[in-house]
Amino acid sequence: MRAQPTASHFINGAYVEDTEGREIECIYPATGEVVAKLHSATPAIIEQALASAKEGQKIWAAMSGTERGRVLRRAALIIEERNHELSVLETLDTGKPMSETLYVDATSGREALEYFGGLAGSVTGEHIQLGQDWVYTVREPLGVCVGIGAWNYPTQIACWKGAPALACGNAMIFKPSETTPICALKVAEILHEAGLPAGVYNVVQGYGDVGAALVTDARVDKVSLTGSVPTGRKVYAAAAEGMKHVTMELGGKSPMIVFDDADIEDAVSGAILGNFYSSGQVCSNGTRVFVQKGIKKAFLKRLKERTEQAVMGDPMDEATNFGPMVSANQMNIVLGYIDKGVDEGAKLITGGKMAQRDGFFIEPTIFADVTDDMTIAREEIFGPVMAVLDFDDEDEVIARANDTEFGLAAGVFTNDLTRAHRVSQAFEAGTCYINTYNLAPVEAPFGGSKASGVGRENSKEAINHYSQVKSVYVGMGPVEAPF
Ligand code: NAD
Repeated sequence: MRAQPTASHFINGAYVEDTEGREIECIYPATGEVVAKLHSATPAIIEQALASAKEGQKIWAAMSGTERGRVLRRAALIIEERNHELSVLETLDTGKPMSETLYVDATSGREALEYFGGLAGSVTGEHIQLGQDWVYTVREPLGVCVGIGAWNYPTQIACWKGAPALACGNAMIFKPSETTPICALKVAEILHEAGLPAGVYNVVQGYGDVGAALVTDARVDKVSLTGSVPTGRKVYAAAAEGMKHVTMELGGKSPMIVFDDADIEDAVSGAILGNFYSSGQVCSNGTRVFVQKGIKKAFLKRLKERTEQAVMGDPMDEATNFGPMVSANQMNIVLGYIDKGVDEGAKLITGGKMAQRDGFFIEPTIFADVTDDMTIAREEIFGPVMAVLDFDDEDEVIARANDTEFGLAAGVFTNDLTRAHRVSQAFEAGTCYINTYNLAPVEAPFGGSKASGVGRENSKEAINHYSQVKSVYVGMGPVEAPF
């Protein structure tokens, strides 16, 4: 199988190559086969991207919001037409099964372009009357934005950052994860086919050093990172040095609380979605599943039965619903955590091993009798490993759920209406769920609190993170001065 793009980078409206850059191998995680070879950006490529973004942004910002929105919505239509082709690329890039990528990845990218394309004409300021004087505000673009992606949702991340940035009149330079470099190039290609002026959306490949070079360049006004907390700390600090705007979408160790009165089938569905979708490689996963003691036995029984029905196999086969880890490295990290779970005394309910097949597959794994101090209950694993913990009452479980440096997401399953809202208000997390888990519609804000991040993606909130307000005071009378 091949997924070789025309060239490694997309700059100033065209594919660009520089073979001097360090090689990036794109490996199909289901077989270990190399499906594309690209090159990390050299200083010359980084310079081209920055110069073209600076020029392109002026042209783009001079267009009306409605004109900009039209380009984004046209790109959304092209994505819809090419959904199958883009889904195959997403599967080759990440290993996620077609049963997911056909419905989620290009689709959520398309929805971001549609939604922000629709909002672009409404990015306006306000009028403030002050007697006879008045102030008007202008919502201006920030300038050149850098987007840096993680490897779990390469098309979605490229669009979730690009769509609001472009709707506001910014240019973007997007650096995909070195593990999944292919999909963002297609997003750039499609945006240009839809009429985007050259230089407004550029893609440069590279490892962390390329990201760091972009973040520290004086021409960059904003950085939006999706990645781990340690990378977030470095990127946030580097951006602060240049007083740049930031959005940080980082890791999590989110709690999901299941009370005795919950619908057990729904709660099990939530736990499966929140731990095993994309083989557990989802930032907002509810990996600490707190189950009230009264339903522990029934919950674990159904959870085990249903988890053992996962269909692991060829991701290109639409009957497959459980794929591999993105890389050998990630597989080894996750296997290390499974060993720690066993060593520290958690009870292995199912899974726990590599699959007997090519590629980087790990069985969906459930641990019960997990305690708060165990490593698998404290650290982000980013793989298909669920930790089930017991609890007695509401106050106790809220305190334990919040006892973490992370604050990305949290969920509660209960049929008690007031408890559902009380618990949601007590959660220290940016994105909460009641009787469902892990949905991220473009209309709703998404993001974390505490160490899980700063700023919000999606919804009208994202507009505030890709624009700034200028206020203009208009004097209507004579100017009075003290002397
Ligand atoms: P990572 O932090 O290793 O890398 C993220 C990106 O940052 C990559 O593109 C990498 O090349 C780049 N990078 C690394 N060092 C850098 C530096 N010094 N300066 C600039 N860029 C640098 O993360 P990952 O392993 O690719 O992704 C998994 C992590 O992402 C998990 O922690 C997960 O929770 C998180 N994530 C968060 C969200 C969210 O929306 N909150 C979504 C998906 C993934």
